[in-house]
Amino acid sequence: MMVNMADHNSMIVGDRVIEPGNSEKFQTGDWRSQVPVLDKEKCIDCLTCWIFCPDDSILTKDGKIAGLKLSHCKGCGICAKVCPKDAITMKGD
Ligand code: SF4
Ligand code: SF4
Repeated sequence: MMVNMADHNSMIVGDRVIEPGNSEKFQTGDWRSQVPVLDKEKCIDCLTCWIFCPDDSILTKDGKIAGLKLSHCKGCGICAKVCPKDAITMKGD
């Protein structure tokens, strides 16, 4: 639908986000169709996946990968793409 910006005041109000920082409450990982699977045997703990993950879903401890927190992982596959050791594989969720 084309919207004439001159008429924006007549538009029906949709959803609104009125509480800052509320995204933590929503399990956006529910949208996911693929899930990353980590092969710890291949992983060299370079942390590249941690740097690139847009949803802070790579867990670290003492400078090493500690696992994946999937509650907000949307299955974008970036971690698998950037991993130099093919230690992350995307699987159907
Ligand atoms: S699939 Fe995307 S959101 Fe999930 S852990 Fe990998 S980079 Fe992060
Ligand atoms: S990018 Fe690959 S090798 Fe590097 S820490 Fe992540 S899983 Fe391990």
